[in-house]
Amino acid sequence: MVASSRDVYLVIGGSGFLGRHIVEALLARKDTVSVFDIVQRHHDVPFYSGDISEEGQVSDALRKSGATCIIHTASPPHGMDDPALYWKVNVDGTKAVIAAAVANGVSKLVYTSSAGVVFNGHSLINIDERLPPPPKAMDAYNESKAKAEEMVLEANSKGGLYTVALRPSGLFGPGDRQVFAGLFEVYQNNQTHFQIGDNTNLFDWTYVENAAYAHLLAADRLRPLSTEEVAELKEQLRYALPY
Ligand code: NAD
Repeated sequence: MVASSRDVYLVIGGSGFLGRHIVEALLARKDTVSVFDIVQRHHDVPFYSGDISEEGQVSDALRKSGATCIIHTASPPHGMDDPALYWKVNVDGTKAVIAAAVANGVSKLVYTSSAGVVFNGHSLINIDERLPPPPKAMDAYNESKAKAEEMVLEANSKGGLYTVALRPSGLFGPGDRQVFAGLFEVYQNNQTHFQIGDNTNLFDWTYVENAAYAHLLAADRLRPLSTEEVAELKEQLRYALPY
């Protein structure tokens, strides 16, 4: 893995499952990286304690870390019965991250969205990133993630900031505290005799290190495109699926 530039990284949510793997991948290629999070779980990189819905705290961390690239993975976990918290962190918090990034001259923002933002309750086969979110989100978590993604993409190329959003599917791998813990609880509670549906449903999973690598690739490739490059991309997309 080779960095195309010497960005200085701030991983927001870097104490989390995916965030931690992103930090490790950056350290492995000898990049300079700090973490911003409400909890500290690792101690081998500079840590800034704070809440993303407080713009001043994000600004402070950006100033002190000298970050040129933000990788924003923070979110409350899926499955909570707290729409207000999802809105506060994912929507208000992401708005604050964008504002702090522009105010501090940060040039790149990579946002972790979710494949769930396009789920409409029906099978989605061979879709790609051009599929927009459905009019009604699956739940409050995905509604807030979709709104955050929209804001991040709208912020692209304004105030010197370039942005990209990724939509990973369910993540698995070392450090997971959600998926396997849940499966194990089901097993322990002897609840494995139930079947929902006819057992033909499919679900995408992504190995967490691959998702982390995708964030690094996105950060490395993020740059202003020339008019010719935009035209070429549009031409390539013409031959793909018609949404
Ligand atoms: P995680 O819960 O392990 O990590 C999220 C981190 O964000 C935690 O360390 C948490 O403390 C931090 N955080 C939460 N609220 C914060 C706030 N207000 N300010 C600062 N930090 C805050 O979650 P994860 O599984 O690593 O997920 C990372 C990202 O990937 C999330 O944005 C999630 O929506 C997205 N995602 C996850 C999955 C999955 O299967 N785990 C799938 C698709 C998308």
